[in-house]
Amino acid sequence: MSLNLIKSENYINGHWLRADNGQTFQVMNPFDNSLIAEVPACGAAEAERAVSAAHGALKPWQCLTAKERANYLLKWAELIDENKEQLAELMTKEQGKPLAEARGEIDFANSFVRWYAEEAKRAYGDVIPANQPNQHILVTKQAVGVVAMITPWNFPAAMITRKVAPALAAGCTTVIKPAEDTPLTALALMALAEQAGLPAGVMNVVTGNPAQIGRVFTEDHRVRKVSFTGSTSVGKQLMQQSATTVKKVSLELGGHAPFIIFSDADLEKSVDGAIASKFRNTGQTCVCANRIYVHDDIYEQFIELFKKKVAALKVGNGLEKGVVQGPLINKAAIEKVERHVQDALKRGARLIFGGQRVADDKLLFEPTILADVDHSMLVSYEETFGPVAPVIRFRSEEEVIDAANDTPYGLAGYFYSRDIGRVWRVANALEYGVVTVNGGNFATEVAPFGGIKESGIGREGSYYGLDEFLETKYICMFE
Ligand code: ADP
Repeated sequence: MSLNLIKSENYINGHWLRADNGQTFQVMNPFDNSLIAEVPACGAAEAERAVSAAHGALKPWQCLTAKERANYLLKWAELIDENKEQLAELMTKEQGKPLAEARGEIDFANSFVRWYAEEAKRAYGDVIPANQPNQHILVTKQAVGVVAMITPWNFPAAMITRKVAPALAAGCTTVIKPAEDTPLTALALMALAEQAGLPAGVMNVVTGNPAQIGRVFTEDHRVRKVSFTGSTSVGKQLMQQSATTVKKVSLELGGHAPFIIFSDADLEKSVDGAIASKFRNTGQTCVCANRIYVHDDIYEQFIELFKKKVAALKVGNGLEKGVVQGPLINKAAIEKVERHVQDALKRGARLIFGGQRVADDKLLFEPTILADVDHSMLVSYEETFGPVAPVIRFRSEEEVIDAANDTPYGLAGYFYSRDIGRVWRVANALEYGVVTVNGGNFATEVAPFGGIKESGIGREGSYYGLDEFLETKYICMFE
């Protein structure tokens, strides 16, 4: 490794720094609970300094041409590629996901950097025909300003670049607080951005007390936008706090994805899709299938095939070859999974496969299938965020659409059908920001991702994602 990517300091205004009081917190490997590194336990003072740095760097960064900003992003992308293996290993160590998934995430993360390097040049405006002969109406796009970002632990790299890349491309400067469980990937990405020559203050990373740092991010008037990915409850709180200075907010919050398999579906493909959607990242994504609705006619057939394939998923250390299910992120996460399984079984669900920890002293949980789930069970309305697949029987299209939409969430929904009329009807009727038909994985940098209802506000990825970091200015000129 030419560059040491394991950082134990924060990056503010072009300098690697400790917390003012020297305090740190530990980052542990969720597979064996070993210590990987310690990082600064910062609070309000350091967060404020990071905001000042971003504010100071804003004008010169905005004044660069889009092409100049794009060149920084492209250099960063090159370095991410060169260091892909180290980044992926670090991610597996701090987050637990299998190495192949971690490598995939680094590629996915980098796809945003490259995409927005290109999009930087396409923040087009408009010229609008005016109503008066001596009037000219122009619409221009300008960077929002300083953007504060708070990111989760389930995608330690992609959730950062999906926000930072469009922000930097648009001409914004940034302050980032990564999740306490996975700050090392964020700091490693920061080190590579520094190596790419990004000017001081343009990107800053602060780790530590979420409530204190979050308060500065939301209440400091110099921050003009907060972009958050995480739980709905924290998102609501940040939105409320942001109201004090009328900030723009982008929120990518919780989900409770329905995954519907109609009787005319390709059974094999729908089982593979359900596994891809449910068990990626050991079920720890906000777009994981949470309710698998299967039509009565193919219900037992589906369960049989699903069981056969789930039984083949290897659980263990993400660094070990062949492992496709890593540990849960922490103790609270595995306890929630256990609680959900026990509640479902108590209320009459049928255990088809799994259902338990792999070992008492580990955060590994068996991939689990529960059949005959109904809407009284916790799994059917709370996010499990773990490797538990609840299967629910349905009989009619109308019934399943009503059930699928009966949730405050609206992030991702999936269904399988080969009937073109049904495909249109159901795609339109599902109240979700993303609907995937005949597939289990929709993630790409070229499409807009985001939720409706209590799953969030705003879109990430694609040209829509750039707009989130731009203000629309109307310039009215009279001759
Ligand atoms: P999860 O339950 O998946 O950990 P959270 O919403 O708690 O989801 O965490 C997502 C991100 O939000 C993390 O970076 C976390 O540190 C941060 N966070 C948690 N509580 C607060 C808060 N009160 N203010 C600001 N950020 C917070």
